[in-house]
Amino acid sequence: MKTFAVLTSGGDAPGMNAAIRSVVRTASFYECRILGIRHGYQGMIDDDVLELTPGSVGDIIQRGGTVLQTARCEAFKTPVGLAKGIATLQKHGIEGLVVIGGDGSFRGAYALAQYGIQVIGIPGTIDNDIPGTDESIGFDTAVNTAVEAIDRIRDTASSHDRTYVVEVMGHRSGAIALSVGMAAGAASILIPEEPQDPDRVLAQLNKARERGKKHPIVIVAEGAACAMDVGEFLRNHIASEVRVTVLGHIQRGGSPSARDRILGGLYGTEAVRLLLEGMTNHMVAMCGARVTAVPFTEVFDRQHEANLFYHRIADILAV
Ligand code: ATP
Repeated sequence: MKTFAVLTSGGDAPGMNAAIRSVVRTASFYECRILGIRHGYQGMIDDDVLELTPGSVGDIIQRGGTVLQTARCEAFKTPVGLAKGIATLQKHGIEGLVVIGGDGSFRGAYALAQYGIQVIGIPGTIDNDIPGTDESIGFDTAVNTAVEAIDRIRDTASSHDRTYVVEVMGHRSGAIALSVGMAAGAASILIPEEPQDPDRVLAQLNKARERGKKHPIVIVAEGAACAMDVGEFLRNHIASEVRVTVLGHIQRGGSPSARDRILGGLYGTEAVRLLLEGMTNHMVAMCGARVTAVPFTEVFDRQHEANLFYHRIADILAV
C-alpha cells in the first residue's frame, strides 16, 4: 500500500478544502494510505501529521479556509529546515506529497523532490497569478465576493451620486481587479502590470460623466496604487464626492463558489492519479477546458501575464 500526504501552504484560498477532500477520497479509492500535514511546511518540520480517511474530510466541501491550516515558513527554505521536513516524511513512510498553494509553495516541493520525494502541486491562490494554469483554486470565489460587495456599494453610490474607489486584492497581479472590474461595470481599472496614468483615469471618469453617469466605480488592485491616494487625486480633480473602500480580507474568506469546489475536485483527483503514475515535479493545471499537468520548471521560468484583453473590453464597455 502506497502512502501519500497532502498539505496546504502560503495564503489560504476558498476551495482548498474541496481539493483536500478530493485528494483524500481519490487516494482511498485507489487503496492508498493518506496523511495530512498541518500548517504547511512548518507542520512538516514539527511533525504535525494526522491520518486522514474518507470520513474525516466529510462536511468540509462548503467551508472556506483550509482544515489543514496553512503557514508561511521561512525555516523550510534553509538546509536544516528542509532536512527536518524530509525526516518527518521518512518517519511516516510518505512516498508522495500533494502541495496545495502558490508558486512559492511549489518551490518548497521542488526542493523536496531533489531528495527523491514524489511531489505534485495544486494551484491554490485567490490571485490567479500562477503561470501555466488558466485557473487557481479560490480566484472565482474571491471575484464573486468582491463583486457582491461592490453591488452593495453601488446602491449607496447611486443614491448619493458619489464616485467610489474600491481597492481589491492583488499585489503582483491584476487578475482579481480585471475580472471584478468587468463584472461590476467599473469606469476604470488600475492593475500592477501596467504603468499608472492618473490622466487616463480622469479622462475615463469625465467621459462617463459626460454621458450621464453620476456614480462611477474605479477598481484599484492593491499593488497598482494606494487607493487612498487615488481617491485624494480624484477629489482634487472632479466635482463629485469621492469615497474610498478597501475590501481587504473579506475577499479571502467565505464558502467556495461551485466553480472552486469543482476545480478542487478535478485537481485533487488528477494529482493523486499523477502520483500513482510515478509523475513528479508537476503542477496540475487547467488549460482551455482541460485538466493537464505542467512541469514546475515551466511554472518557475514563466512570468505571470495580465489578461490585457479583459482590460481592453472593460475600457470599451465603460464608455
Ligand atoms: P501565495 O500565492 O498565497 O503567496 P505561495 O505558495 O506563493 O502562495 P509563499 O509565501 O511564496 O506563498 O510560499 C509558501 C511557503 O513555501 C514559504 O513560506 C516556504 O515555506 C515555502 N517556500 C517558498 N519558496 C521556497 C524555496 N525556495 N525553498 C523551500 N521552500 C520554499
